[in-house]
Amino acid sequence: AHEAALAARNKDDLRSPICCILGHVDTGKTKLLDKIRQTNVQEGEAGGITQQIGATYFPVDAIKTKTAVLNKDGSQEYKIPGLLVIDTPGHESFTNLRTRGSSLCNIAVLVVDIMHGLEPQTLESLRLLRDRKTPFIVALNKIDRMYGWQAFPDNDFRDSLAKQSRAVQREFEDRTQKTILAFAEQGLNAVLYYDNKSFARNVSLVPTSAITGEGIPDMIMLLVNLTQQRMSDRLMYLSELECTVLEVKVIEGLGTTIDVVLSNGILHEGDRIVPLRELRIKSAYVHHSEVKAALGVKILAPDLEKAIAGSRLMVVGPDDDEDELMDEIMSDLTTLMNAIDKSGRGVCVQASTLGSLEALLEFLKVSKIPVSGINIGPVHQKDIKRAATMLEKAKELACILCFDVPVDKEAERLAEEMGIRLFKADIIYHLFDAFTAYNAEITEAKRRDAAPQAVWPCRLKIIAAFAKRDPIILGVDILDGTLRVGTPLCVIKVDPETQKKEIIELGKITSLEINHKTQEIVKKSQGGGGVAVKIEHAVYQSAKMFGRHFDDKDEIYSRITRQSIDVLKTSFKEDVSTEEWLLIKALKPRLNIQ
Ligand code: GDP
Repeated sequence: AHEAALAARNKDDLRSPICCILGHVDTGKTKLLDKIRQTNVQEGEAGGITQQIGATYFPVDAIKTKTAVLNKDGSQEYKIPGLLVIDTPGHESFTNLRTRGSSLCNIAVLVVDIMHGLEPQTLESLRLLRDRKTPFIVALNKIDRMYGWQAFPDNDFRDSLAKQSRAVQREFEDRTQKTILAFAEQGLNAVLYYDNKSFARNVSLVPTSAITGEGIPDMIMLLVNLTQQRMSDRLMYLSELECTVLEVKVIEGLGTTIDVVLSNGILHEGDRIVPLRELRIKSAYVHHSEVKAALGVKILAPDLEKAIAGSRLMVVGPDDDEDELMDEIMSDLTTLMNAIDKSGRGVCVQASTLGSLEALLEFLKVSKIPVSGINIGPVHQKDIKRAATMLEKAKELACILCFDVPVDKEAERLAEEMGIRLFKADIIYHLFDAFTAYNAEITEAKRRDAAPQAVWPCRLKIIAAFAKRDPIILGVDILDGTLRVGTPLCVIKVDPETQKKEIIELGKITSLEINHKTQEIVKKSQGGGGVAVKIEHAVYQSAKMFGRHFDDKDEIYSRITRQSIDVLKTSFKEDVSTEEWLLIKALKPRLNIQ
């Protein structure tokens, strides 16, 4: 029966693959999109390229015209009905475009500037593509910028290359080799697309110019061939409805509308959808009673105000229970709620869509930044109030990371008033950098505040007494640890009769000298020739005297306490070496610390 069903499928059942463009800033993503969208008037190009909501649709006839230079003998097979290219290039939109954790994109174009090679965001994009297992090709863009390049507009790349001077050809080979090497460093086998014998094993490089249009036919042809080869049958045919909300917008005269990408299935006018109601469809403001995947569509329906960008859209079928579908959609949110720290401590996070929120939460999880609250959509006063609950628990976490969302005026004012920091950015890692910098600042301030309470461990042997009392000045050898100005020192006396231990506090180090040069810190390795240590007691301490309260048979220790150890642990953890922790551990019982 299954085979019969398959056999019954015809060309009308095919759906169009969805393509995303990503890459580093300024590599030419936008320009490439413009170029492939552009209609060639002089060739009387097949129409039908429609700019839709958030995407451009290329019906197969347009694809055929655009790739004609590469199909002179007419042997190329075109199985797909068309191609939907998402209009907002960049990896942010790619992260937003996913359903149930997998990418909405069936194929991607990673744009690399041939003059620059792999750049930071190229690597970021590569990571995303690998995570989502999205097949992709690489456009090696801006070939026309190579010195001496002679342009043959919209030409097939290999033909253009053959017509270049030997010097240009050499520069091209050279730059391509470098890029291939850079990809190899990322563990990827990149080859020029016309040398690629296996789409499964190698990444195809297609040289392009978004200015002259050279290589663009090659790029489109490659997208056709790659989707035809690599997209499974399941993806190729219209099946179950798959629809994702891209944006919720209020449009004058229409009310609240949602822009969706219909990635599979068919939407009909009058379909009951969850979490919404009756459906009316507008595609590029042309009214449709039925639309087939893949498309970008604007939907009009009542009660759209609460729709959430990034969430799934479902149609209620005759046998479906609307409540069940609702639960299923809500379960997408539940997974996100699990990202919230159980301790109740953490930053608040607000993003424009479910997808971007998910991506940001992943980022924060990896960076071990706890999250106490999440929300989707613009930041309002209530969000500030929620973040304010953190002011008492952990002041440094009383902030909101706002990712690609507006903050309304009142909310901004309230945040200012209450001392809630707002971090705003449209790129995840900018947001992350800003927060990390702020965090480092807070940590540094905390360390400054805590520094007087921090006691660094040391064990000293007395070798000379230069002044016996008020202040005490001793010559010492460092047996263990580090000497620092500010460290309180003590000796331990045991009563020979009662065996009772007494800790004699000498005061704090107020200066350190090696060979008459003053120092702030002296390490064990530097103290070889002896260190002169000046010790002064606090007003509340009685002055101790060398020769009476202690003498050169006594070892001197840092006066550590439970509290001083805690300060080291919370504020200086990274600065304390393993040896120093061991010394603290050894000193604890001697100084009666539990
Ligand atoms: P995006 O940030 O990746 O979207 O890059 P844009 O499309 O905005 O392009 C950045 C700049 O590079 C613009 O000034 C473009 O005109 C230019 N540019 C893009 N593609 C090409 C190309 O193929 N050749 C040349 N010479 N310039 C290009």
